[in-house]
Amino acid sequence: MRKSVLILNTGGTISMRATERGFAPDPDFLGRLKNIVADPDFAPGLDVQFAEMTPLLDSSNMEPGDWRRIADEITRLGEKADGVLLLHGTDTLAFTASALSFLLEPSRLPVIITGSQIPMSEADSDGLSNVQGALAALAEDRSRDVFVWFGGRLMKGNRTTKVHSFGLAAFDAPRMRGRDAKPGELRAALPNVEEGRAMAQVGLLKLYPGISGAVVDALVDSGLQGLVMECYGAGNGPDLNTGFMAALKRAVDAGVVVVAVSQCHFGSVDLYRYATGRALADIGIISGSDMTVEAAVTKLQVLLSLTSDIPAVAEAMTQDLRGEVTIT
Ligand code: ASP
Repeated sequence: MRKSVLILNTGGTISMRATERGFAPDPDFLGRLKNIVADPDFAPGLDVQFAEMTPLLDSSNMEPGDWRRIADEITRLGEKADGVLLLHGTDTLAFTASALSFLLEPSRLPVIITGSQIPMSEADSDGLSNVQGALAALAEDRSRDVFVWFGGRLMKGNRTTKVHSFGLAAFDAPRMRGRDAKPGELRAALPNVEEGRAMAQVGLLKLYPGISGAVVDALVDSGLQGLVMECYGAGNGPDLNTGFMAALKRAVDAGVVVVAVSQCHFGSVDLYRYATGRALADIGIISGSDMTVEAAVTKLQVLLSLTSDIPAVAEAMTQDLRGEVTIT
């Protein structure tokens, strides 16, 4: 049986053309793509529909509200489709892939996100092969999850990260693979969902030798509700730095949910391995285990946007809701 796929373009390099200010979204891109996909040999077995978000964005300009708009559009337009192919800029693609994995209930259809490092309007573009590969992946039966297809690889969306600024193998899923998402798990973890809440303010702080408490204070004073902290190695921090530790404690006591992930590309956080990690756990920092930065930031963002129940969010951050984290 033929399957129906919706291609939803959000912008990004794949759809750009050269302008005097550098590459920028091309309003004529979708028309050109339609002509290519109309060739019956391009996507055998698929009926393809097309749609576009407005405005088309370089993904460096994507904001949390855009993730929600994209999720709503996928839900609305994907109603009659068997799968969605989302075209997206590579810069924040892993954030959007992770965010969509939390925003979409994994019960309806598979979503694959791709883009390219070189615009399709240029010679040697990787765009067409990425689109064709992603469509072929959608033609097969697959779980109703969010995936990234890039450079010939299919990866679980909320496990991916961008690893190259111009190489064609731009994405990797360096930590464990993650199980398929299942319907109902996120809502089950959050008993008191309040509909209609605005997207939350979540920050990201990378630890570095010499970091001061004033940096944490400034972030908290900016109105954050959640903070992802990229710690050293297995989830360690400078516990001898009393100013820094006091500021972190003030943040937690003020109700900011602080989640530790690792600066390392491989492995995971274990706050109980070193005394310097234990000190973070003691003041209420939560372990993000092997979550990517992108998964941790977007998970925190989505959960805080669903409820004001801080202890429930803190607890849900430690649970595997969409195959984004390995609980050991
Ligand atoms: N700046 C571009 C974007 O993220 C980069 C890309 O698409 O590869 O939209």
